Amino acid sequence: MKFLYDPPQILKAAFGSFLWNTKNEEVLLTFDDGPNPGTTEKLLDLLRNKNIKALFFCLGENINKHPELCKRIIEEGHTIGNHTYSHKKINEVSREVFDAEIERTNNLLKDKFNYDIKYFRPPHGRFIFSTNIILKKHNLVNVMWSLLTWDYKGNFNRVQKSIQNYLKNNSIVVLHDSDKTELILQDSVKLIIKEAEKRNFKIGEPVNCLK
Ligand SMILES: [Zn+2]
Repeated sequence: MKFLYDPPQILKAAFGSFLWNTKNEEVLLTFDDGPNPGTTEKLLDLLRNKNIKALFFCLGENINKHPELCKRIIEEGHTIGNHTYSHKKINEVSREVFDAEIERTNNLLKDKFNYDIKYFRPPHGRFIFSTNIILKKHNLVNVMWSLLTWDYKGNFNRVQKSIQNYLKNNSIVVLHDSDKTELILQDSVKLIIKEAEKRNFKIGEPVNCLK
């Protein structure tokens, strides 16, 4: 499924157990696909500087390759979510493969950092009805979004347009911590902070935004 910025209401209603917006009228920043050397360090510096706590939907394979970055994300008070092990499209793999992708990533975080993952986000925003069953088995809450910035296209003007037109006080904003966004990630985060301030929106912590 492809969404332009904010997914349609009918889809949100059909998948009512998924989180599409924050629950507390604060903006939540989420970063998919990391950790990634070259972007994650600078992103963490910026978030620390602005005193913002975010939700990182990490890939198991990237955690495996860059455990030191994953450690830093945790140590600096951010939340880590499961984004599968190898960025598989859920609707194109068997239940067993999906289940294994989830479990492998959860186990990795548990073994390396004694960290319990609570949140999940499907790669490419793809899901099917049975997704819920597997997530329930692993006690994971599916966190979708209400603001897609299209940052992975690498075009800052496009990000700007989406933020300026669609940022709301309960937005779950998707950004990407990857090579694709290397040149625009810092500016994109700074822009969200600026636009939120302008509108008197607070950028909240995952623990408050999602409970
Ligand atoms: Zn992704």
